[in-house]
Amino acid sequence: MDINKVSALSTGTVRIRPEHVGPTDKNLYVWLATSRSWTAPRPINAYVVEHRDGLVLFDTGQDRASVTEPDYFPGGLNGVIYDRLATFDIGPEQTLTRLLAASGYDIRDVHTAVLSHLHQDHIGGLPELSRARIVTADAEWRSMRRPLAAARGYLRNHIERPDLRWERIHPEPLGDADVAPFTDGHDLFGDGSMLVLPTPGHTPGSLSMLVRRFGEPPLMMVGDLTYDAELLAAGTVPGVGKKSELRRSVARINELRERHPDLVVLAAHDPAAAGRLGVPGAEVTP
Ligand SMILES: [Zn+2]
Repeated sequence: MDINKVSALSTGTVRIRPEHVGPTDKNLYVWLATSRSWTAPRPINAYVVEHRDGLVLFDTGQDRASVTEPDYFPGGLNGVIYDRLATFDIGPEQTLTRLLAASGYDIRDVHTAVLSHLHQDHIGGLPELSRARIVTADAEWRSMRRPLAAARGYLRNHIERPDLRWERIHPEPLGDADVAPFTDGHDLFGDGSMLVLPTPGHTPGSLSMLVRRFGEPPLMMVGDLTYDAELLAAGTVPGVGKKSELRRSVARINELRERHPDLVVLAAHDPAAAGRLGVPGAEVTP
């Protein structure tokens, strides 16, 4: 058995705008400037996979420093955008290291961390992961390096840390008909148990990860492609990102589901996600 246990941990909670979850016809900057309400607190999930060759994370959550250090976020106009976009609550026990320890893991045992994308609520554990291989899409890295990074959600000073060991992946042909309509991706350990798949839309280089285990439903970790697996199943896309690409990525996952009706979709900020993992196969999205 290549994969033993899969679990979720949440590095605090985030409240976002209802338009962010979607659906909405409004432009991002219109709802960002005018929205007056927040959602209920939602998780900031990182997923933990016990693979035979080591511990794998999908996303790393949000850094507690983001709520304790006043200069973590940029100031000026960018700061206003971040303040309007989300509000966070991260307690002292909700660092990646402490959450892993509470689940019986040592942060030093993390072999690989795959980042769905490079926004700040997914890269927060990086300062604690200097021993691990950090996997991101080359397309995402290039997007981060383009001008006006902070305005697009990329805090380069928290990403381009000198102590990290990055692996920037390029999707390559998988030759695996079982994952159609996906044709290209990256086989994380070369054993087919974890396939990193391009699902652009939220950002240009957004990745999902398909986890396949013997005798249990396949898991699709999708980052911020959706905030609610039931909305994704209905083909509905969120209010952030590039709509045409979001629709294409969502459609591909739903097409994959036709072949695998028991597919479990795990988003980073879906309040129902952890429950779907609790009892494998018991709660399957419609
Ligand atoms: Zn996020």
